[in-house]
Amino acid sequence: MPTGKTPKDSGQSDMRMLISFIIMAVIFTSVLNIFMSAMTTRQATEITYTEFLQMLENKQVETVEIQSDRLVITQKPQENEEEESFYGLRGKQYYTGIINDPELTDRIIASGATQYREVQNNSPIISFLATWVLPFLLIYGISGLILRSVMKKMGGAGGPMSFGKNTAKIYAQKETGVTFADVAGQEEAKESLQEIVDFLHKPERYTAIGAKLPKGALLVGPPGTGKTLLAKAVAGEANVPFYSLSGSDFVEMFVGVGASRVRDLFKQALENAPCIVFIDEIDAIGKSRDNQMGSNDEREQTLNQLLSEMDGFDASKGVVILGATNRPEVLDKALLRPGRFDRRVIVDKPDLKGREDILKVHIKDVKLADNVDLHQIALATSGAAGADLANIVNEAALRAVRFGREKVEQADLMEAVEIIIAGQEKKDRIMTESERKIVAYHEVGHALATALQKNTQPVQKITIVPRTMGALGYTMQMPEEEKYLMNKEEILDQITTYLAGRGAEEVIFHTVTTGASNDIEKATELARNMVAQYGMSERFDMVGLESVQNKYLDGRNVRNCAETTSAAIDEEVLSIIKQCHQKAIKLLQENQPALHRIAAFLLEKETITGEEFMKLLKEEETVDLQKV
Ligand code: ADP
Ligand code: MG
Ligand code: ZN
Repeated sequence: MPTGKTPKDSGQSDMRMLISFIIMAVIFTSVLNIFMSAMTTRQATEITYTEFLQMLENKQVETVEIQSDRLVITQKPQENEEEESFYGLRGKQYYTGIINDPELTDRIIASGATQYREVQNNSPIISFLATWVLPFLLIYGISGLILRSVMKKMGGAGGPMSFGKNTAKIYAQKETGVTFADVAGQEEAKESLQEIVDFLHKPERYTAIGAKLPKGALLVGPPGTGKTLLAKAVAGEANVPFYSLSGSDFVEMFVGVGASRVRDLFKQALENAPCIVFIDEIDAIGKSRDNQMGSNDEREQTLNQLLSEMDGFDASKGVVILGATNRPEVLDKALLRPGRFDRRVIVDKPDLKGREDILKVHIKDVKLADNVDLHQIALATSGAAGADLANIVNEAALRAVRFGREKVEQADLMEAVEIIIAGQEKKDRIMTESERKIVAYHEVGHALATALQKNTQPVQKITIVPRTMGALGYTMQMPEEEKYLMNKEEILDQITTYLAGRGAEEVIFHTVTTGASNDIEKATELARNMVAQYGMSERFDMVGLESVQNKYLDGRNVRNCAETTSAAIDEEVLSIIKQCHQKAIKLLQENQPALHRIAAFLLEKETITGEEFMKLLKEEETVDLQKV
């Protein structure tokens, strides 16, 4: 493994930097000098000595400056002809050569002009210093300062002369203060990590029996699910120091810096064993080395260094390496083989109970009113990660303060959920009356489609108050229980619900607006997944035509089929969408009285609850409620 070439390489790059730096300063200085001399001589015009004498005779001269090689003549400012120079108002400047003229001084005095000679340090050394060395040093110093601050921001260090010197901020904590009690909803992950905690507590017990503990564990999961938190909790539980660096800290502009940071990190860790070494966002360095997008020397070197350090240290000393990533599929296979990160701990998005537990953890220090029901909040936040839930609790507390309350109420929490989903209410946006009407019918269209179909979730709230994240209004559905599977009928009903917003616009106003773009996107995605991933179309049976790429991020799907098949998928998707669109329109046409009545109510109230909605719907006799 090519790990030994780092120091020489970084030395070379230092030298290269220094040279290009000097060249830069020289160029700057030259440009500066040319510019300066242009500035000073720009306005002077050459005249003959006779013309000069003529000017003296006419008493037009204000001053005569005797320089080493020339006379610089400043004319008296003439009316209307004053030239506005950089230095203020001044007469025109002329210059002429020096001629041995013993009477010159007398003539100048006679004409009333002033004569002076600039006292100059004409020593060539001093003038060279003044025009070249001084500016050079100034420029060198200033750009050095700028570069240094840039370098600092990038986690590097040192002035212009110390590129590549390794002083990475290894983030070390004696005690993290975090324990497993602070991490909720990740019971399986905690269980797998418990063994590591035990090992750090009593390494003898494991070594006595001859067991080798995993050197490292990789925490894998979507952003915000608590990977970093779990790593800290392991250190907290085991009561050992916590050394951490983020993968991106290793990747620097200069080849070799990352590798030396890895070396440093492990050196420090071994001196302080037992301890936890945590490398966050490890995909930044651990990306597979054979990727097609061109190689990255620095990253490869860093990765090689990491691999060899992991092989090199003796795990029985009690150093455990934890890594975290949300893109496990891009990691180099070498990192994952036994003896390195041989354990994989999945930290996925929490389920219903998990969300409730996480809310409980974060709401510990918040004063709550009696009406708070965390189960409801957990139900409404399907798909939220721990970080979102922590955020929701905080938003709710902030809202309670804003309203001058001393305790957080359920309404604060529900509003916080909506803020996270749709953004802040935007009360100052003024919509025209006709726009409000369209939005109201659109939203009631969604709500009616939900209520009039069997396999749907109940309506929680309908609102036409615009939100900062772009929604002009929305209909919130809330499941009665957490579902892990969706059947075909449910998906079709969901698509119909999405399309019913636009459907209502068509049925009532006989026109369409741009307001349905988000609905269209979601409906199409569902329909496409039905065909390409869930095997729910007759035409393609159970062929997998697409697969999910970045499972833990919202990556795009990758197509696994031919172009022609792809076109056929589009046809199939189109037919699903058409069918659902027709169904939505039919539902709404049959229930126009209800649509009008509820939309009118919504226009008046701006926001109505699911109960109010259902009450209105039940009062409407024409409605055939299959579900209620
Ligand atoms: P990740 O590293 O997975 O992106 P973090 O560990 O940085 O996520 O989580 C960010 C914040 O979200 C944490 O500081 C914590 O407040 C909250 N959080 C995330 N997951 C959980 C959890 N399972 N239990 C409690 N809090 C959590
Ligand atoms: Mg993290
Ligand atoms: Zn809509």
